[in-house]
Amino acid sequence: MAKTTVEREAMQTAGGEIPASGEAAASGEVRDVKRTTCCIVGGGPGGAVLAFLLARKGVDATLLEAHPDFDREFRGDTIHPSVMEIMDELGLAERLLELRHNKIRTFTFQTVAGPFTPVDLSRLKTEFPYITMMPQTSFLEFITDEAKRYPNFRLVMGARVRELVEEDGVVRGVRYEGHDGKHEVRALLTVGADGRGSRVRRLAGFEPIKTSPPMDILWFKLPHEEEDPEGVLGRFGGGHGAVALDRFDYWQAGYVIFKGTFPELRHEGIESLRRSYAKLVPEFADRMEHLEDWKQVSLLSVESSRCPRWYRPGLLLIGDAAHVMSPVGGVGINYAIQDAVAAANVLTEPLKKSQSQLKDLDVAYLAAVQRRRELPTKIIQAVQSLLQRQIIANALSSNSPFTPPLLLRLLLRVPVLRNIPAHLIAFGAWPVHVKGERKAL
Ligand SMILES: Cc1cc2nc3c(=O)[nH]c(=O)nc-3n(C[C@H](O)[C@H](O)[C@H](O)COP(=O)(O)OP(=O)(O)OC[C@H]3O[C@@H](n4cnc5c(N)ncnc54)[C@H](O)[C@@H]3O)c2cc1C
Repeated sequence: MAKTTVEREAMQTAGGEIPASGEAAASGEVRDVKRTTCCIVGGGPGGAVLAFLLARKGVDATLLEAHPDFDREFRGDTIHPSVMEIMDELGLAERLLELRHNKIRTFTFQTVAGPFTPVDLSRLKTEFPYITMMPQTSFLEFITDEAKRYPNFRLVMGARVRELVEEDGVVRGVRYEGHDGKHEVRALLTVGADGRGSRVRRLAGFEPIKTSPPMDILWFKLPHEEEDPEGVLGRFGGGHGAVALDRFDYWQAGYVIFKGTFPELRHEGIESLRRSYAKLVPEFADRMEHLEDWKQVSLLSVESSRCPRWYRPGLLLIGDAAHVMSPVGGVGINYAIQDAVAAANVLTEPLKKSQSQLKDLDVAYLAAVQRRRELPTKIIQAVQSLLQRQIIANALSSNSPFTPPLLLRLLLRVPVLRNIPAHLIAFGAWPVHVKGERKAL
């Protein structure tokens, strides 16, 4: 016998699975409809941490990730002191640090005037005065494994969101393509945490305002050898920059070029890239022959953007979906996780209330999340933009060896000022803590 609307609603409220109804089922389009309180699209750092935080407080959270696993292309391996403090507040820091990692305490650039260290995290007042370098895959697996301990958490891998479910201007969930067809998730709140190319953002009709930093980055892998130093290498000179990040089994090498010059470089041939990189990082000259083809190189078109509005009734954007950060300082992961914590701090109680009373979430709470996170985002983007214009653009447009501006070198000698860059990188404009869990230093 067909179920009545009331029976269907009761099953949905209990978080149960119901067969698709009406037209969708008849057309065979949607295989089933599930109900949750918060549907999070995107299992990157922002989405995974938000799902964990909500589930641990008793909010039903469904996390939809398009990829079948967390093993993805390189997108940064940094866990900043701010995130480590958050992990510590959640009782997870010790276990996280049991996973394979390196610790970076300073950012040092080799210049003609000798080593230049604009960032020294070891002087910061925190239990974690370093960047923890850990493959993002390990971090995401760790957080989602922790989340799986809570019955309120549901993770669907290989779930690519295609459409929003909307009723009278309110977002009521999403439809996604799974390995076995189309499914629907209905939710009181849908969160777009689906990264820089966010489909949710586009479907919701939001247009980010973009700025174009003066550089692009070419990424490629180089072999790791036993006697290599640990951690990170960074160099500027001759109109280019080079970084190398230790990923244990190989080096993730980055070559920073002036924006838009990739076609020219490509035209010169891969040998030209091999030569220029080896000139900046002579200790890797012996292994550059492993770079044989442009197919081994991926171009990151560096972008910085921010949505003027991060929410609509029933929908919120966080992380890169709301604001793409420039790679200067490597703060994108930190900011996505800080957004997740701020969102959980604001939304947990209202979502629990909405969940129990089955009523819509007041849009004022979503506005409050944007208010908390927009200013810190603007501040860091402004600082990044200043550094890009004043230092990076000059370094990339000059063929001379890189020399940091005198004013910067002098400012970094003043005790009250010298910790500012490290503080901004470690914590952002200001730290974010898990509500009710902050530890005294
Ligand atoms: C090459 C590179 C290097 C970087 N290096 C650093 C670094 O060193 N430090 C740093 O802090 N930041 C770095 N970043 C930036 C950093 O990766 C992002 O800022 C950060 O990952 C943002 O987190 P997020 O959770 O908002 O989004 P993302 O990490 O982008 O996660 C979005 C997730 O959504 C999923 N998704 C997308 N579309 C859909 C869909 N339709 N349905 C379901 N799921 C979907 C994606 O598969 C992905 O898992 C780097 C970025 C790149 C590209």
